[in-house]
Amino acid sequence: MSWKVPYVDYPGQFRRREAEIMETIQRVLSHGDLVLRHQLRDFERNLAEFCGTRHAIGVSNCTDGLFLILRALGIGPGDEVITVSHTFVATVAAIHHNGATPVLVDIGDDHLIDPACVEAAVTQRTKAILPVHLNGRVCDMRALKCLAERRGLLIIEDAAQALGATYEGLKAGSFGTAAAFSFYPAKLLGAFGDGGAVTTNSAELADRITRLRDHGRQERQIVEWGFNCRLDNLQAALLDLKLGSFAQDLARRREIAGIYRRLLADVSELLLPPAPSSHGTHFDVFQNYEIEAVDRDALESRLTAAGVETMRPWGGRGVHQFEALGLNTFRLPRTELMFARALMLPMHTELSDEQVEFVAHCARECYGYLRQPLPRAA
Ligand SMILES: *Cc1c(COP(=O)(O)O)cnc(C)c1O
Repeated sequence: MSWKVPYVDYPGQFRRREAEIMETIQRVLSHGDLVLRHQLRDFERNLAEFCGTRHAIGVSNCTDGLFLILRALGIGPGDEVITVSHTFVATVAAIHHNGATPVLVDIGDDHLIDPACVEAAVTQRTKAILPVHLNGRVCDMRALKCLAERRGLLIIEDAAQALGATYEGLKAGSFGTAAAFSFYPAKLLGAFGDGGAVTTNSAELADRITRLRDHGRQERQIVEWGFNCRLDNLQAALLDLKLGSFAQDLARRREIAGIYRRLLADVSELLLPPAPSSHGTHFDVFQNYEIEAVDRDALESRLTAAGVETMRPWGGRGVHQFEALGLNTFRLPRTELMFARALMLPMHTELSDEQVEFVAHCARECYGYLRQPLPRAA
């Protein structure tokens, strides 16, 4: 099916910058710069500068980044890590594969981890909080940092969806002991395949993760058991190119969020993400436009029939709702309600204003908001 408004547009994204992309590939390949070369180091330096952290380490993907952070911090069997169920399974898998115990807590109306629920879930075994900055919005880091300090916990950020988002003027990825980013193609800064990075202000942690991602090697010697979790050098070169104009991409996403907000704010059946503000606590970058809708299934069918491609977050279920993972003892009412009502509207840099307006128009029509409201009986 060819959509009138597709959920993502990889070919469009490529065409817009085709000449520069092909020129970069040509340059990298003709020099044979394939693994751990200067393009990777350049990208790591620029990314760290962008995030306001001392270090950035390119890794194979965000999942591996989270895995390596936990591993490097020695979090394992007997340790509990608190995170959300409203996330990609990868967040929780990184905890699981280190032998630690994931403790899933509920979200607030902003769809992000609820600090009060975190507080209630802390035990003697809790080692870390793993907030997920979903949909391009940073979690309530003031409350979480305060709690972490009080209870002696580490903070590890899943910033897969939040490159460039800020909270109280600081960038996602700069709040915790370390953070992981994703460059999966559909993410804010998308590679042409998989990619990820870890940011941290700790030189010691940066060194450890740099070793772990490359077989435990340091200056050609093997100094510990490691993994192969390197960021591909060609991808790093392309990501560095895209990082150069990343601010424009974010501005466009915020513009689109503004259009959705303007055209849908009065539809009382919908709960929209907060408006893109530039002077409040949050500077959101809208990785997704995740709404909650009364009668979600009807809205979804209506949009599909009109040629608008939408998605249910994570296939429509939280991590604790997948039987196979054995986490179904958690009861998370706000998360479960969210999954019953959530829908993600198209949100990417290739959308035209007209396409966004069309999506909003279809949603208004679905709830009968197109006509003028009937005059009230006197
Ligand atoms: C995409 C995503 C991941 C996984 O990233 P990969 O780079 O694909 O491993 C983890 N957490 C969240 C919240 C994500 O959106």
